[in-house]
Amino acid sequence: MTDWVVHKFGGTSLKDAERIERAARCVLDWPDRRAVVVSAVGGVTNRLLGALEVAASGADTHEIVSGLIRDHRRIAEELGVDAPERLGTDERDLTDLLHAVRLVGSADAVIADLVAGYGERWSAALFAAVMTREGHPAKAIDAGEVIVAKDGDMGPIIAWEESRERLERTVGDWSDAIVVTGYVARHPDGRPRTLGRNGSDFSAAIVGKLLDAQAVRIWTDVPGIMSADPRLVPEARVLQTLSYDEALELAYFGAAVLHPQTLAPLIEARIPLWIGDASDPNEDGTRIGPESERRFAIKGITAIENMALITLEGAGLMGVPGTARRLFGCLERAGISVVMISQASSEHSICCAVQKVAMVEAVERIGSEFATELNAGLVQAVRQDDDASVLAVVGAAMAGQPGLAAKFFSSLGRCGINVKAIAQGASERNISAVVANADAARAVRAVHAGFYLSPQTVSIGLIGVGNVGQALLNQLRTQIPVLADTLDLRIRAVANSRTMELGEDVAFDDEAKRVPLDLEALAEHVSEEHLPHTVMIDCTADDSVAALHPAWLQRGMHVVTPNKKGVADSLERYQAIRQAMRDAAVRYGGEATVGAGLPIIHTLRDLLDTGDRVIEIEGMLSGTLAYLFATYDGSGSFAELVREAWKSGYTEPDPRDDLSGLDVARKLVILAREMGLEIEVADVAVESLLIDGSGEGDAEAFLEHYRQVDASMAERFEKARAEGGVLRFVARLDAHGTASVGLKTVPGDHPFAMAQSTDNVVRFRTRRYDANPLVVQGPGAGPEVTAAGVFGDLLRVCSALGGHR
Ligand code: ADP
Ligand code: ASP
Ligand code: MG
Repeated sequence: MTDWVVHKFGGTSLKDAERIERAARCVLDWPDRRAVVVSAVGGVTNRLLGALEVAASGADTHEIVSGLIRDHRRIAEELGVDAPERLGTDERDLTDLLHAVRLVGSADAVIADLVAGYGERWSAALFAAVMTREGHPAKAIDAGEVIVAKDGDMGPIIAWEESRERLERTVGDWSDAIVVTGYVARHPDGRPRTLGRNGSDFSAAIVGKLLDAQAVRIWTDVPGIMSADPRLVPEARVLQTLSYDEALELAYFGAAVLHPQTLAPLIEARIPLWIGDASDPNEDGTRIGPESERRFAIKGITAIENMALITLEGAGLMGVPGTARRLFGCLERAGISVVMISQASSEHSICCAVQKVAMVEAVERIGSEFATELNAGLVQAVRQDDDASVLAVVGAAMAGQPGLAAKFFSSLGRCGINVKAIAQGASERNISAVVANADAARAVRAVHAGFYLSPQTVSIGLIGVGNVGQALLNQLRTQIPVLADTLDLRIRAVANSRTMELGEDVAFDDEAKRVPLDLEALAEHVSEEHLPHTVMIDCTADDSVAALHPAWLQRGMHVVTPNKKGVADSLERYQAIRQAMRDAAVRYGGEATVGAGLPIIHTLRDLLDTGDRVIEIEGMLSGTLAYLFATYDGSGSFAELVREAWKSGYTEPDPRDDLSGLDVARKLVILAREMGLEIEVADVAVESLLIDGSGEGDAEAFLEHYRQVDASMAERFEKARAEGGVLRFVARLDAHGTASVGLKTVPGDHPFAMAQSTDNVVRFRTRRYDANPLVVQGPGAGPEVTAAGVFGDLLRVCSALGGHR
């Protein structure tokens, strides 16, 4: 081992003068002998490759070339160093090369590789100039003169001996820092070549091995290798230690942070590789070495998009040896790399994933390889599916640990992601699954969350900011930070009846941020694919919003609501809701539709699920009516009492909605349907407290008219009193679906008679709770308790997703 340390900077860390300056300082702070490997200035390789395409299409590239030269001159100026001398000659050469491409109409590989590599030559010259200016003379070295690589099946093969001699010769007795171009190399016969996109990482490893360096440090724009691409998973963590094997799998399965071939030269020489943030060089970042840290079974999650799945299928494949060899042999001969293989144990089909661009050719090759079998019907089909992303979870400590695959797939299942194919490497360092491209980002996030690498993230849309909605919003604001350890709740849309606000963290307190309401756009925004779970909260009492519940569920969104119009409306809508819940494996939280925050539906569900049978449910299900009859003492005017309740906000906006008994009938229908009874509101015998002519006019006019009820109400009150009872508005339902709501006389010692104020009371008489029924009682109306009921449902949904308690 020598005292060299190799530092590599990617294009993102060399984007402008400021960053180049920073990168140079980062290297200078390092005590050892320095070899720097640089990528081109950010975006330059793309511009050069773009110029080749433009030239090949016959168009003029003058602007592109002069733009590139101008940009590099400007950077030199900003850095306060002389512009690299070579820029002048390079501009002419590049112009000539592109002119040739334009004449020929296409670029051959050698010209393309020569052109593509100019960016690294310029950035190396700039970097060396800055180091020299800082008093550390640095020699710029063109790796196109040093690294010799021939083509191999798996990518470039380095001629180590020759490259080492060339490097030694180039470095000579230079004892200070060197700056080597990344990405570029030469064929054994001297023709220029590159090491493939992102190849500078590989260059750094090659230089590290050639110099027998102590370490290679890759400086980039992230603090290390992370548990997932931070662009997809903002909660991704930096991994402190990875084994070479783990890093290899992550890179192979698409973690763009490292070129997949980077590790090979280092493994042999046992040189550790560090990855860190160029803007924060004091942080250690990730260390990749021979050992793995076994504390976490899963290290990282990756996705490779734009893949295709090819399946060879046929009964004739069963038990025939050599099928796999022939299949992969023909792909190998065509130079098509197979990323993943999965074979059913019946051997009835073999399936593999290849790059989408290679799909057509792969299918053709397989078709001709198995032509005889296809004709003879031994092979039924070669099927193709070009909508595939390969998802992989990687970790050395996965080996022999049961339950990890289950966790992987249940994370996918819970957010309704269909898995097209599965493979587990025999090393057990990796499990991969193929999903549709559109599901890829969501899948990475869900699996990441599933392994507790990040809290469960739930995207929330709230519709309706009346009393209940506003109370809920306030409760959420207070509790979100408290729950943050296990749950990541994000309010991403809030709407009232006219406007909405969409965003990442919506407070709904600034009118300027609102746009006109568009429920489709709202749903679209809330269910954005990179967030694994979506909950729509409907805090309206609106029929048109309730009508959307089935559709939301069908598209994989959970629904939580106190709006009775969803499950108490037509049987058809109710069944559509149930069906959608099954189809999309989503939940519907409607606890607050009955008794606000009281656990009524839950209690009923638990009774039924544990095998109890309901004989009768009897209850006071309206907080408003409970209040009216608990307060009414027969002396004053009943209508006046209704008016006072209305004024104090104890009734619906129109008190007729309470007095009609319809609201109570709806709640009874909800309970009946929960019991599996197919009833409608029309099947409930409803005694309305309204009188003839109640329908006319507004609430005020109605209350005036309603005085006519006073005499008969007083009469009923007296009659009840004479019998030793009181008046209560009672709902009843039996196991056969006989349902009624109406004003009843109940004995003075009955639980209903003793209920206070707006208390709801529900008595479940069941097989187990027969002589002494199970009673749920408590305030059954009011914004705070209703909102709490909705919130409770939201948390139950989250807990079913594995994110809470
Ligand atoms: P450079 O220009 O330094 O070579 P790249 O863009 O090639 O940088 O690679 C760094 C990028 O890789 C990061 O910005 C990040 O978005 C992406 N990336 C993908 N997967 C991962 C991962 N698992 N950990 C860290 N970064 C990742
Ligand atoms: N500049 C080359 C590219 O953009 C190599 C690299 O950045 O690693 O692909
Ligand atoms: Mg890179």
